Amino acid sequence: MALAHVLGFPRIGAHRELKFAQESFWKGASDEAALRATGATLRARHWQAQADAGLDFVTVGDFAWYDQVLGTLALLGAIPSRFGFDPKQLTLADYFTLARGSKQHFAMEMTKWFDTNYHYLVPEWAADVQFDGGVDWLHDEIAEARALGHKVKVALVGPLTLLYQGKVKSGIANKLDLLPKVVAGYQKLLQRLQAAGIEAVQIDEPILALELDAGWRDAFAPTYAKLKDNAPALLLTTYFGEVSEHAELLRTLPVAGVHLDLVRGAGQLEQIAAGWPQDKVLSLGVVDGRNLWRTDLDQVLTGLKPLQAQLGDRLWVASSCSLLHVPVDLANEPKLDDELKSWLAFATQKLAEIVAIKQALNGKAAEVEAQFVASRAAQASRRSSTRIHNPLVQKRLAAVTAADAERSAGFDARIAKQQAKWQLPAFPTTTIGSFPQTTEIRQARAAYKRGEIGHLDYLDKMREEIRVVVEKQEQLGLDVLVHGEPERNDMVEYFGEQLWGYTFTANGWVQSYGSRCVKPPIIYGDVYRPEAMTVGWSQFAQTLTSKPMKGMLTGPVTMLQWSFVRDDQPRETTALQIALALRDEVCDLEKANIGMIQIDEPAFREGLPLKSRDWPHYLDWAVRAFKISAAGVGDETQIHTHMCYSEFNDILPWIAAMDADVITIETSRSDMELLDGFGEFAYPNDIGPGVYDIHSPRVPQVDEMERLLRKARGVIPDTRLWVNPDCGLKTRGWPETYEALENMVLAAKRLRATV
Ligand code: GLN
Ligand code: ZN
Repeated sequence: MALAHVLGFPRIGAHRELKFAQESFWKGASDEAALRATGATLRARHWQAQADAGLDFVTVGDFAWYDQVLGTLALLGAIPSRFGFDPKQLTLADYFTLARGSKQHFAMEMTKWFDTNYHYLVPEWAADVQFDGGVDWLHDEIAEARALGHKVKVALVGPLTLLYQGKVKSGIANKLDLLPKVVAGYQKLLQRLQAAGIEAVQIDEPILALELDAGWRDAFAPTYAKLKDNAPALLLTTYFGEVSEHAELLRTLPVAGVHLDLVRGAGQLEQIAAGWPQDKVLSLGVVDGRNLWRTDLDQVLTGLKPLQAQLGDRLWVASSCSLLHVPVDLANEPKLDDELKSWLAFATQKLAEIVAIKQALNGKAAEVEAQFVASRAAQASRRSSTRIHNPLVQKRLAAVTAADAERSAGFDARIAKQQAKWQLPAFPTTTIGSFPQTTEIRQARAAYKRGEIGHLDYLDKMREEIRVVVEKQEQLGLDVLVHGEPERNDMVEYFGEQLWGYTFTANGWVQSYGSRCVKPPIIYGDVYRPEAMTVGWSQFAQTLTSKPMKGMLTGPVTMLQWSFVRDDQPRETTALQIALALRDEVCDLEKANIGMIQIDEPAFREGLPLKSRDWPHYLDWAVRAFKISAAGVGDETQIHTHMCYSEFNDILPWIAAMDADVITIETSRSDMELLDGFGEFAYPNDIGPGVYDIHSPRVPQVDEMERLLRKARGVIPDTRLWVNPDCGLKTRGWPETYEALENMVLAAKRLRATV
């Protein structure tokens, strides 16, 4: 009999209960007992959902008070010594200090978990780090689940993934130097779980989906050989990509079973299953843990049937990865219509899908027939629905040519015309788009959304805000102005709401980090722009000034990257559809006499695939999408783009290939070092390296910015250099923003005096 399980369930709660409990505890509004009670309630609810659905185990260990990597460090006792905490006596308050910092200690660094939008806390590896055991929280949770009558599978971040995802701080040359200590820590932990009667442990090693060098790959066999004694049965899980290059390793590794992500790597099954040992479980991740479409159950079943003959009860059916990356329950979406809902499955619905597949494999197809019928209907309606398939978009897509991606002249010719037209001073100053989003702005937007104020009232309020923002920029003496984006709640949502093919959930929250959750839009159909989205605002703003007013759009890759994306066509096709919609907006802006247009792509680098061999394909279509959105304008129209939080050096040829007339990037936090690559590469177009960090309320002084600009001049020719902050200013207050920009303009003026 096949078994069913999930690799993890969202911990935050359908109504973000964990978030509110965390934040209340942090504010001191409630005590630790209250927070712990909320955690226990959520765990109990999530285990019950798994049991009720008919999974063979509930997963324990996927819960975390902030992050699962930090939780693993707390469990092993491997917390950074610089905080001065005793790992065995760590309190919840201490744990949050590791995550969030305090007056005395800066927080542990946070970064993206593989290619997801989830952020984990980066382990700090130093010679003095201990793995002698820490908090008992996991053991308490196991006891909790058992007291509730559940059959338990424990989930752990694996030793090699934990080690790999950390950063070397001091006293060791190489992360792998710590391996013996790490292994000893896991041995102790697994022995304790064994002694407690735990039968199965899921041990997550997603680094197997990366391009591992030989040192890391060769560490697997000896590590797992040491872990197997006096330990529960280990199910080694891989996910986020295919691992077929490790087929031999996986067959021979001394573990009880292996999990594969068949959503991200369907092609790997044949190779890995061939000659799969008689004594090993193969857990197959067939239900997508990264996206929210209803599974095609027939297709999955057909794919698994031949394996069932081979594997028998060693075949397990699972989610592709943890369900952490999808929202909790579709039942909480009253505003989505029934047709749309019939296409979707959130975490709770995915549990039922996994069980339906298991039942069908186990000869109980009749019991789950209704599920299969609904799945079939959903696939059929997605294939034919006119809400999804728009002939206008299809026709246009089919007609796109290579020339559509090219401006009519090269950069040198364009920039000469643009300079002649605008007559900007040397080192022109500008900002990235948004200005402080004050309470009044947020309230006005919310009131309009709720229907409490009418359209004209709303228009008035926003125009008033734009007027103020333009006036301030004029006073500051900035050279290229922006309207300030007061009408935007979010840079993706704002456009998604105006485009066909996008929809939004009421409660589709996904944890991003700690208590922070995001509600990504869903792209379900062909993307089509029924009417102009930003022209009115930009046009109005331009009437208020004789300086150039930059139009402001979100680029196709970012629109894609920060949404749940269709799985019935390649990502690049969806990107191209968005690009065409944006192209029309860009051309409309130009027609309305907006002569500079910025197309933001902060998520451009984030979209890079996990394996570098897949980079060129991604970069090709991503660059093309950007260029198609931009290239409909004449030579005199200046296209800007903006990117942040990124390393660019390894993809510079593609950034140059985007051929934006001006690019602004985040550089101040790296002391302009990020810019060196652009210099070495001789990046050909104009560039504005950010001269101050907008994430901090601190007002930068003129000298500091002047110093950074002088550094930039060492790398970028004077004629190519712009002056601007690192990113948009929407999270800042006005007083510090005004002062900072005043200083920035002064720094630019000092520079001008030297040429
Ligand atoms: N134009 C956007 C803003 O200024 C850019 C935001 C971003 O890069 N994340 O807010
Ligand atoms: Zn930015």
